[in-house]
Amino acid sequence: MQNYGKFYQKSWEERINHISQNEKLTKEQIQILKNSAHNKSLGDTMIENYITDYSYPEGIAFHYLINNKRYLVPMVTEEPSVVAASSHGAAIIAKAGGFLAKTSERLMIGQIILESVEDSAKLIIEIQKLTKDLLVVADQAHPSLKKRGGGTRWLKTRILAEDLVVLNIAIDVQEAMGANMINTMLEAVAARLEAVLRQQVLMSILSNYATECLASTTCKIPYELLSKNGFAGEIIAQKIVQASRVAQLDTYRAATHNKGIMNGIDAVVMASGNDWRAIESGAHAYAARNGQYKGLSTWKISGDYLVGELEIPLPVGFIGGSIGIVPLVSLNQKLMKITSARELEQIIVSVGLAQNLAALLALVSEGIQKGHMRLQLKSLVIAAGANVAEEAVLVDKMLQADKRDIASAKKILTDYRKKDKNG
Ligand code: NDP
Repeated sequence: MQNYGKFYQKSWEERINHISQNEKLTKEQIQILKNSAHNKSLGDTMIENYITDYSYPEGIAFHYLINNKRYLVPMVTEEPSVVAASSHGAAIIAKAGGFLAKTSERLMIGQIILESVEDSAKLIIEIQKLTKDLLVVADQAHPSLKKRGGGTRWLKTRILAEDLVVLNIAIDVQEAMGANMINTMLEAVAARLEAVLRQQVLMSILSNYATECLASTTCKIPYELLSKNGFAGEIIAQKIVQASRVAQLDTYRAATHNKGIMNGIDAVVMASGNDWRAIESGAHAYAARNGQYKGLSTWKISGDYLVGELEIPLPVGFIGGSIGIVPLVSLNQKLMKITSARELEQIIVSVGLAQNLAALLALVSEGIQKGHMRLQLKSLVIAAGANVAEEAVLVDKMLQADKRDIASAKKILTDYRKKDKNG
């Protein structure tokens, strides 16, 4: 391992020179680093040891009708088919009257973990006596939040083990995701606990299991909108219900069911400048809330309709974090025509359900590979070295030859170029 010294103290040019020399990068590789660095000052503001920008494609999903309002939905993802599937699922649901989406209060939970507790029952009584004072301390640590109508709401204690007690403090974070604000508030409370109760604090941090910041959405689709590939809509609906049951019964299937939902959710979370790891961890914890990891969405038959439901914790911000500093995020908010975090939550949860519908529809009718194949082959032939002009022909040739691997793509490309040269 080469010595990189105090990399963070170097200028961008020095960092590029340093890494290029140490890692013996070629001229072409250095050029890739330089050409991809589109916004050095922004990168340096956002993260540490910045060298370049890693870009993801952004696409728009259409046909979203949520609470009677139409939305364009920007999605950021590296995975083929996600945007197309999202629009497809949304179009079916729009024809059925659209999504009905709701949000709960926007409370985030902050945790203070107390360790080396000698008498947990006594400590809990002492904390209960101090509750009012502790909530005031928290609010005073970030007073602007209370001025905006947010701030602390409640404090609860729990014994985790003989020597461990946790305080959960619920905080209304208004339009922000709230992690930084909450952490500041918690540290003030932790200092008060140490000072007044002489109690040792292990750590203070928000919980990403945002059970008090939920978003839910439903849709009700008449059978006739579901018929596909010669299958009657009723049969497809029944198969989707079965698929939903399996995701409630089997964790192997549930993980993939939820991955499909998160394909849509993460893409909008990213486009809206939010922290997708926070949303991912909260969603998966919620999927296991009853002791077994299960599918996050459910599909049922009601009358002649297929009824879908999805509920997840969605503590996204409309303000704060990197949202205000990344110009594309403001543009995406404008494209979505949203004015609040709640409206963003309603879009994101609905995208999750549309994505799930599209995936299940494909799985129970034609199988997922068929719909994805052209897009996957496109990535494959490009990885094999095809240029834009060759791409479509090569995909056709791969399909004709029934090949799906990179070695075949390279061979087909070589043969094609030879023939092309020879006329
Ligand atoms: P910020 O630190 O940016 O705080 C929110 C800011 O928004 C405050 O400065 C606040 O201003 C301002 N604001 C303006 N208007 C409003 C309004 N109407 N409602 C609420 N705030 C408003 O971001 P967050 O506290 O939201 O933290 C999010 C960041 O924290 C994300 O980048 C996330 O990745 C990161 N993070 C996540 C963790 C986790 O998930 N475990 C842990 C630590 C960090 P004012 O100061 O005037 O109140």
